[in-house]
Amino acid sequence: MKINIMTLFPEMFEPIRSSMIGRAADNGIIELNIVNIRDYTEDKHCRVDDTPFGGGAGMLMQVQPIISCYRQNEFAGRTIYMSPRGRKLSQETAEELAGEGELTILCGHYEGVDERALTELSAEEISIGDYVLTGGELPAMVLVDAVARFIPGVLASDESVLEESIYSGLLEYPQYTRPRTMEEGEVPEVLLSGDHKKIDLWRFEQAMRLTKERRPDMWQEFVEKFRADEKAYSKKERLLIESVIRY
Ligand code: SAM
Repeated sequence: MKINIMTLFPEMFEPIRSSMIGRAADNGIIELNIVNIRDYTEDKHCRVDDTPFGGGAGMLMQVQPIISCYRQNEFAGRTIYMSPRGRKLSQETAEELAGEGELTILCGHYEGVDERALTELSAEEISIGDYVLTGGELPAMVLVDAVARFIPGVLASDESVLEESIYSGLLEYPQYTRPRTMEEGEVPEVLLSGDHKKIDLWRFEQAMRLTKERRPDMWQEFVEKFRADEKAYSKKERLLIESVIRY
């Protein structure tokens, strides 16, 4: 997958070049193309921003450098503008975008970008949450990371995406590793039993309890889905779900 990032601060993307995404780029699974919008300005003082027509606080990124950057690099595919007014990023959106061959991400700065740049690039707007950051660089890294996890070969095992919090409609169950015993407590006995059916049921129950406690909105959705298709679950799972519903 080719991921193009248009930004005024390419150096901010250094962290994303390490770890899993860096490995995926080294292995040719992801092609990360990070370009500096300022390199495309036609202004003799290299300006890329100006004051908004009609007045108002701050500066806006100008259209020309953005469009020239996009065209001269022959970027294609869906264009995403990271923006607090966009639809909120979710696992579903990340998975959907992972199916694209090419993605172009525009990072805003200052008070945002001239609206005509978004229209010209037919940009979709995506927000990473209901808060305002200084620039689109951190949101773009969040998006790339969330999308990359769905690209086959990026994670060591594709299984782990399926068991993740949110993906299954439930938050993830608690996990433990060595040592078995510490001052801070013991590992739950069932995880040491070697009985994988029991372990799966225990994890399922823990995931449900956590979701019910911490994310009532998700829990509500899970229960509605369960009620709509109870036969999708085994008898033991159904009993467990009912007991957590009553709990
Ligand atoms: N004036 C803009 C508004 O009220 O919508 C906010 C501009 S913000 C200071 C600068 C840039 O940061 C935005 O253009 C956008 O690219 C990025 N940004 C800030 N918060 C974001 C969020 N929650 N999600 C995605 N991008 C965000």
